[in-house]
Parts: sequence; structure tokens; C-alpha cells
Amino acid sequence: MSTRFATVSDTILDAVGDTPLLDIEGVYAKIEFLNPSGSIKARIAKYMIERAEREGLLKPGDTIVEATSGNTGNALSMVAAVKGYRMQVVMPEGLSSERVAISRAFGAEVLFCGNFHVNEALARAKELGAQPGYFCPSQFESEWNVEENREILGPEILAQLPAGRVPDALVLGVGTGGTLIGVGQAFRAVNPDVRLFAMEPSESCTILCGEIASHTIEGISDGFVPGIFERHASLVNEVLSVSSVDAVTEMKRLARRHGLFCGPSSGAHMLAAQRIRKNFPELKTVVTVFCDEGEKYLHEYFMAPTRSEVDATHFA
Ligand code: PMP
Repeated sequence: MSTRFATVSDTILDAVGDTPLLDIEGVYAKIEFLNPSGSIKARIAKYMIERAEREGLLKPGDTIVEATSGNTGNALSMVAAVKGYRMQVVMPEGLSSERVAISRAFGAEVLFCGNFHVNEALARAKELGAQPGYFCPSQFESEWNVEENREILGPEILAQLPAGRVPDALVLGVGTGGTLIGVGQAFRAVNPDVRLFAMEPSESCTILCGEIASHTIEGISDGFVPGIFERHASLVNEVLSVSSVDAVTEMKRLARRHGLFCGPSSGAHMLAAQRIRKNFPELKTVVTVFCDEGEKYLHEYFMAPTRSEVDATHFA
């Protein structure tokens, strides 16, 4: 038996992290959708809140407020529920309805601001967070976000790789950029030549060409280049793009072929990783992350209204 849960845990926050690393068709994929609250964001939510408590920025009775495309909102709502804080999630309309419902299920208040992109929510959360008794973690700016990924997630992946292997490439979409930069820093420490690839939707190439448009790879390309990415951009070797349609098709394939029920960004990560393996055969160890669970997209992609439609899509 694994020793991870061999004794009684204090709270569900003890189950954050320690996720499997799978070899999926030659790509090493870290299965982060298994985290409590259904995404990788449980990691930074726990890390940033516990850090704020230690630094005296957050006290009993305070309110946490954060702008999010949803997953960080879900994760912070879970942490706030465990620790007894009030939680306000500020998010745009037009994202999956499950994201809103999950934050509410954890007892959070959801405030809507803007449409799909997070820009307006960001300004509102900053305003609310400046009030006495409020704390705004500021995931798009905070070095604590980078730190979690460098000190915890990155080393976890390195320890799981087969003996003697170091990462040659890391590819990730950019929401805050925290995962790409933080895990990238951990990888550079063991392989200075590791290549870091940022991925963005081909419909909204914000990093490469300043374009801001709608897409369906929720959680990345939120309508601006985040501060974390700007500060650390020199670490990144290349920017790739994947279309929304291809991301969603690959998301569905991962569920049917591998039993991995994850969201569109995971599909996009897988396609980008396979492109890297094909175009750069010298990069033997390619790593990516499957960030959130498919359950967050049930209404968008999986709730066909009739039995015959379900069958038609299932066997297509
Ligand atoms: N995929 C999904 C589903 C996400 O929610 C996020 C973060 N919003 C990312 C990828 C990108 O992670 P990061 O914020 O570390 O860039």
C-alpha cells in the first residue's frame, strides 16, 4: 500500500499534490486534474493562502478575493471553506457553468465582470482587495505562484521521471504563466538546455502577435500577457499555437482512448507535445501537464440531449 494516506489526514488540503506522471504515447503527462477541486490550481491556492497567513496578510474573519477564469476560483473557494474565510470569486461570463457552480458549492460568492477574458475581473478584484479585511492573492502577478511550481510541482515531476532521464522539453499554455515558468526553472536547474515552449490558442495569439479574440481553450490566453510571463519571458524558447477545435477533439480522444477525462487545455497540451516530438526528434523527454477535469465541461461538450445523439458522437 502507498504510504501517502496510511494515517488519518487533517483536511482535504493534505490531498493536494502528489499526482501521477503518465507516459501517454511517449509524452510525460502530469495528471493534475486529480487534485481536490479538480485542477492544478489547488496547489497555488493552498500555497498562496498559507503563505499569506504566515506573513500576517490574512487573519481569521478576512475575505479572500481573486480574479480567475474559474479554476483558481474553485481552488481558492475550497481552501477558504476549509480554513473558514469568506471568498469572493470575480470572473467573466461566458466560461463553463460548472466553474461557477463549483465555487458556489464551496460557499463562495461569484461576481461577474466582463466576458470570457479576465481583464475587467482583474481590475475589480484589485479594487475589492484594497479594502481593509480583504486579501487578493493576485495569481497573475505573484512570485508565490512561480515559487510553488518551482519548489513543489517541478521537483515532484523530476523525481517521477525514469532513472537517468531529465526533461528535454516542457510545453504548457499560459494562463498566469506560473506553471511554465516555475516548473521551467526547476527543470533548468537539472538540464540547462531544456527547451520551454509556451502554447496559445491559434485564434488568440496574444503573446506572439498581440491578438485578443475568443477561443475555447478555457484557462489560458485570458486576454492579456500576465506579469509573471512578462517578467520571465527570456526563459521561454518558443511559442506554439493550437486551434480550439483541435484541442476539444483531442480532449475527447484522451477520454475515450486513455480514460483521461480532462479539459480542452490538456488536449491542446498533448497536441503541442506531439508536435514537438515530431519536429524536434532530438528532444527525447517531453513533459506537459493535464490541468483540469472534464467534469468542468459537461454542459459544453458532453450533455447531448438525446440517447441517439450520445451514441452518434460516441462512436463517431
Ligand atoms: N489549463 C487550465 C485549464 C487552467 O485553468 C490554467 C490556469 N488558469 C492553465 C492551463 C494555465 O496555467 P498557468 O496559470 O500556470 O499558466
